[in-house]
Amino acid sequence: MIQTIYIEKEIIDHPRVEQLLARFKSAEKIVCDHYGEIFNRKAQNFRFQKKNPALILAKKHKGYVLPSPDAYGIGGDKNYYFSHMMNCIYDCRYCFLQGMYRSANYVLFVNYEDTHNEIRRIANEHPDKICHFFSGYDCDSLALEPVTQFVENTLPLFDELANAWIELRTKSTQVRSLLDRPVVKNCVVAFSLSPDNIVKNLEDKTPSLQKRIEAMKKLQDKGWALGLRFDPLIYSDNYQQSYSEMFQQVFDAISSDKVHSISLGNFRMPEKFFKNMIKLYPDEKMFAGPLLEKDGMTSYPDHLEYEMMSFCEQKILDFIPAERFFPCH
Ligand code: SF4
Repeated sequence: MIQTIYIEKEIIDHPRVEQLLARFKSAEKIVCDHYGEIFNRKAQNFRFQKKNPALILAKKHKGYVLPSPDAYGIGGDKNYYFSHMMNCIYDCRYCFLQGMYRSANYVLFVNYEDTHNEIRRIANEHPDKICHFFSGYDCDSLALEPVTQFVENTLPLFDELANAWIELRTKSTQVRSLLDRPVVKNCVVAFSLSPDNIVKNLEDKTPSLQKRIEAMKKLQDKGWALGLRFDPLIYSDNYQQSYSEMFQQVFDAISSDKVHSISLGNFRMPEKFFKNMIKLYPDEKMFAGPLLEKDGMTSYPDHLEYEMMSFCEQKILDFIPAERFFPCH
């Protein structure tokens, strides 16, 4: 799968690098000074590179954990996000990563412990607050877990921290490592879900809705807390029917009583990223409308956002109480 691996000189002897190189024995290895030389090069084509991304092994030096935007949260007092990777094995047409980055190569920051130390520092700095840490902003939290083992290395930290929760945001069915280990009570495995027609048309390479539901059910049966993330809502002529069917399909399979939280959010994208995405996929129907630009963001018109959010909110509240529902306005 990986044919080329770039390695920053500084971490060439890191044990995690040695393990990864042993795993991809036949890949071409190229040593570099800094991942940015490869990742930020001009004149790269994200769409073309997505067909065969290289892996770049790097060290993160700052920005290990960042405060989340105010509008985002699932009931914690303080919210933060972090990523151990940049880019993703999936290829969702609405993904902001393709508008934000020049390169589709995967960057894996191997110094996990620096992120762990920062999480520990923040949690200890706020002993009377519940701190939520969201994983998977620049990547999918679980999709490459068999290769990165980031989650396996990170969960023990949350056993130690009484006031900290971790959210693992994913579309993946790579849940074997979670099923094989004891449940971490303060971990939410949060699945991003979309109706089947959207998965088929806009979420290339991702597991089907049914496969995600099966993975969720296995986790729930084992005692893991589940999050359901209906974000971004995507408009289509029959969105009411397709979203209604999806909610029914999900709640027929899993126990709503034990769902930790549900969030809901509309499609929205910084205008600059959106323009880059149109250049990559000029024929993509989703980009044709009904979207508009407002205050530097591309989104659906207000009335449509309101209509879709209200419709889905009403449906969701048939299944769970309002205190576990977190719409992102
Ligand atoms: S799963 Fe998430 S990170 Fe990966 S391509 Fe889709 S939207 Fe982007």
